[in-house]
Amino acid sequence: MDDNIQATILAVDDEPSNLNIIAGYLKSMPIKLLVANSGEKALTVTQSTMPDMILMDIRMPGMSGIEVCRQLKSSPKTADIPVIFLTASDGDVSESFAAGGVDYLVKPVKSEELIARVNTHLKIRKLVKSLAQANSLLEGVNESLEAKVQERTRELVALNRNLRREVDERRRLQDKITYLSEHDFITRMLNRNAMESELDIALDGVGESSSTRHYLLFIDLDQFKVINDTCGHIAGDELLRQVADTLRAVTDKQDVCARMGGDEFAILFSSEDMGLAIAKTRAVKTALEQQEFTWQEEQFQHTVSVALVEIDNSIDSVSHLLSIAERTCYYSKIKGGGEISVFNASRELIEKSQKQAKQVPIIRQAIAENRLELHAQRILSLHDASEKKAEILVRMKNEDGSLKLPGQFIPVAERFHLIDSIDRWVLSHLCQWLAKNPTDASFCVNLSGDFIAKDSACEFITNLLREYRIPKGQLCFEITETSAIANIDTTVRFVNTLHQTGCEFALDDFGTGTSSYEYLKKLAIDYVKIDGMFVRDIDKDPINRKMVESIAAIASAKGIKVVAECVENDAAKAILSDIGVDYIQGFCEHRPEPLPGLCSQFKMQQEHA
Ligand code: C2E
Ligand code: MG
Ligand code: MG
Repeated sequence: MDDNIQATILAVDDEPSNLNIIAGYLKSMPIKLLVANSGEKALTVTQSTMPDMILMDIRMPGMSGIEVCRQLKSSPKTADIPVIFLTASDGDVSESFAAGGVDYLVKPVKSEELIARVNTHLKIRKLVKSLAQANSLLEGVNESLEAKVQERTRELVALNRNLRREVDERRRLQDKITYLSEHDFITRMLNRNAMESELDIALDGVGESSSTRHYLLFIDLDQFKVINDTCGHIAGDELLRQVADTLRAVTDKQDVCARMGGDEFAILFSSEDMGLAIAKTRAVKTALEQQEFTWQEEQFQHTVSVALVEIDNSIDSVSHLLSIAERTCYYSKIKGGGEISVFNASRELIEKSQKQAKQVPIIRQAIAENRLELHAQRILSLHDASEKKAEILVRMKNEDGSLKLPGQFIPVAERFHLIDSIDRWVLSHLCQWLAKNPTDASFCVNLSGDFIAKDSACEFITNLLREYRIPKGQLCFEITETSAIANIDTTVRFVNTLHQTGCEFALDDFGTGTSSYEYLKKLAIDYVKIDGMFVRDIDKDPINRKMVESIAAIASAKGIKVVAECVENDAAKAILSDIGVDYIQGFCEHRPEPLPGLCSQFKMQQEHA
């Protein structure tokens, strides 16, 4: 009940004078007064007007006030209306409270008492009403809150379910991707990648156990290509699957089998010794060859080439191991006859040595028959474009006229001590040529440690200089760091002696040795040639750039000129020029060519200048 809304009070009494008294007393109050002169009328008026309070006489003819009150309290619609009884005696009090009355006044009613009670109960009524309203409001809020919570819970449950489904799906996909990345699609065996990881682990563990050794069995199907080409890829795939099944059946549980690609399979296994490993290899080979392959009623017999490699510490990487296995298997294939090839590190070394030894008479004969040829590559000054400088690089002419590069015969010549003869050949032929074709260009000649170590080396050169009247400063000798270190005292003497004749010296392949800077102090050299490994990708590798920068800084502090080898592109050239390198040499400027060709170019350059 709002303060602004007038309260309605119903006064019930069968005695009109009593009603008048009440009306008179309440006149001063801001209320609307209704009256009824019987219990029955009181009920009717209450239903139609819903008063805020009833002042009720108890004793009335017909329906008593107590009965009216009981009926009002029994209906939810009217139960809350406060009823104050007007009674002539205290004796009715307990009955009136039992019927639901809130208070009572004893007649004759006093004005102040009536007004005070009416006010009090109107206030209580108002408070109760607003409490009820607040309660129902709260209930409403609670209900909508509850509904919202339930709705959100439903949403979360649904979201959770979707999320779980998605996580499961992703996990399945991840497993699938992992499986696919490690397995071969056709045979469901491990693939090359996965096998490489296993081999890596095996290599790491080499030497850990003295009783077991690891072996790699490499298998190549000899007739796979024929079956694939004549019966089609489906047949080829089926053959691969059957081979995989056979391998699974003949190998042990702990063996690692993989399809390495194409028609190659591999098994990594451990065994106590080579004898047992060979026996196992034989069993695998027999099982594969006994397996008959039938396709569209045609039967195919097939053979396999196998190689067995013991994984020991002579093998430094997985790629090394696989290249040995593939090569050994290839030998087995070209040998035919279905034998097992077994790789053995010491045998390989002996074979390599034997192969090199076979080269010795060929090189010797080439020197004797003058089948060496002088080629030269320009070395460009970054300060003076007119400077003419080149490095002499030797080539060997085969009997059929084709050329061998130094990489194919110099290492053999060094190992079998033929390099000294090659250096002498190069020096004397160069000097002869220069005597016949005078030029103001200067030439760098590579000298081996073997040559420098010979007592006669200095004399050999001084004789040539004298005999062919080679001008001072026309020759520069390149000594590699490794050969210089091998016999440092001899090298120091050699350099000092020849310096006096006007020859220059360069430390070649600089940076590849471990203590390069040491030798800058000991040797009176004029140039350092920074090895190609630091120069080739200087435009991409910041560490190499730093290396070159530091070599250049130290060399120039000592008054030594810097040559960068293997300059292959303009970007590298620009960086080297920024660093302050003095000379560059490389394919981006000039590829080695026969000496006469380069000298004609020098001549033309001179004429144009
Ligand atoms: P080196 O003295 O370091 O010679 C430079 C090598 O790098 C030459 O190889 C040259 O062709 C190559 N080269 C030059 N520019 C580039 C480039 O931009 N990129 C790449 N990738 N390579 C480049 P070559 O002629 O095959 O000679 C190889 C090595 O053989 C020489 O290395 C030298 O140590 C040795 N050698 C050559 N001739 C003689 C010789 O007369 N006596 C001796 N003792 N050794 C020689
Ligand atoms: Mg050189
Ligand atoms: Mg070099």
